[in-house]
Amino acid sequence: MLEENKLEIHAALNADLGRGKFENYVFEIDYTINEINHMLMNIKNWAASEMPPKAMINLLDDVVIHKEPYGVVLVIGAWNYPIQLSLVPFMGAIAAGNSVILKPSEVAVNCSNILGELIPKYLNNECYKVILGGINETTELLKQKFDYIFYTGSTAVGRIVREASNKYLTPVTLELGGKSPVYIDSTADINVTAKRVLWGKFINMGQTCIAPDYIICSKEVQDAFIKEAKLIIKEWFGENPQNSPDLSRIINEKHYQRLINFLSDGEVAIGGHTDPSEKFIAPTILINVKFTDAVMSEEIFGPILPIVNISNAYEAINFINSRDKPLALYIFGTNKEEINLIINNTSSGNTIVNDTILHVSVDTLPFGGIGPSGMGSYHGKLTFDTFVHPKGCLIKNFNIIGETIAAVRYPPYSDKKLKFLNFLMAKRPDIPGVKFLPYLVMFGLGIAVTFGFKAIMKEHLYAAEP
Ligand code: NAD
Repeated sequence: MLEENKLEIHAALNADLGRGKFENYVFEIDYTINEINHMLMNIKNWAASEMPPKAMINLLDDVVIHKEPYGVVLVIGAWNYPIQLSLVPFMGAIAAGNSVILKPSEVAVNCSNILGELIPKYLNNECYKVILGGINETTELLKQKFDYIFYTGSTAVGRIVREASNKYLTPVTLELGGKSPVYIDSTADINVTAKRVLWGKFINMGQTCIAPDYIICSKEVQDAFIKEAKLIIKEWFGENPQNSPDLSRIINEKHYQRLINFLSDGEVAIGGHTDPSEKFIAPTILINVKFTDAVMSEEIFGPILPIVNISNAYEAINFINSRDKPLALYIFGTNKEEINLIINNTSSGNTIVNDTILHVSVDTLPFGGIGPSGMGSYHGKLTFDTFVHPKGCLIKNFNIIGETIAAVRYPPYSDKKLKFLNFLMAKRPDIPGVKFLPYLVMFGLGIAVTFGFKAIMKEHLYAAEP
């Protein structure tokens, strides 16, 4: 579907977000195709039952983890990356064997319409449905009983989803947002730091859940950053960024107005130009911002980057810890001790050192928030694991050896039986060489039981002879 309709999907993204080809392909179309290919390459392995290690007492049993689909999954997508954020969890739920209802975000109207139009042409209509609509439709959907709900969007709506899911104790993944801080240390390479922070901030016009929300750094670092940022923004977007084909637009009037209000906080060091007719806001950096300003209280989700001054890493840690746990925490610097100090003394969904955004592309890293920035995670194998219940199965048989050994659990109890049971059940460290000891012991026991059994049978046979 994605391969055959690339141009139409690109056009829908462009109509919703004014976004150019490069970002549409990198972050949505090609990204999603790649995720699907990765799933196809691995689905056999990921879906296969697992045989975890077992204790000595279970050596004759099968200890198996079955990957059981939950059943019917509801995927609710967000508008800022309307294709990727709908289709990646949607395909993960399908791959895991579920029936799925997809509810794309009505805010990106062209993208939700194209998903509603294309998906029924490509997939089984009984198992996979797309429901279009807004808050009313989502509210109605949330009244139904689902077996799993995967929601991407704001923390406020995340709370509504969680509350609705409680009625049927439905498990949820909540991929939410929040303010992702950037700490820049004086040891950082400022030119590279500025490029990596500004790129992460201005892709999709700042409407990225893991966009760097604000910078905390010393006054000296701020001055150096602003100097570099002026040159970089000019180099990337020209004298008049509004003419750049590489900057998207704000999704709608409501969000545009919300962002305009932030521009009166602090002092504009770079940018500040706005155009309501195009819902355009130039890449903007604010300085002399106070912790208590509005721009520092809610997630910005736009091309405005405030800088708040602090003196050192300890202050940065205290500042980060005094606020909601972020979806992403970005640290720039070369002092390893200081970087580890921040990593070990803060809590965030993900932590990235000396870059922004790119953890999304590392499919072996769980992607998700903590606390108000979300619960659960996905990407790579986790996109499959999220949608299966790992059903633990203990499968025994009626083998006489197993039953004879396991008979120690039956009354009448004795100290001898207790000792033997403890020996069988004891947790043992995984020391090389000792690994095979339980098998050897079980083998020995098996032989002993067999001979014992034979001896008893012989006695009975002789006894039975005339
Ligand atoms: P949104 O308004 O499109 O809402 C997302 C979904 O929630 C939509 O399908 C919508 O229909 C539904 N919805 C909205 N209000 C509702 C209500 N009152 N009751 C029931 N359902 C409702 O998107 P948004 O919430 O504006 O998205 C932006 C937020 O999402 C930001 O906070 C951003 O950080 C976060 N986000 C997180 C991730 C992530 O992966 N963690 C990705 C993208 C966006």
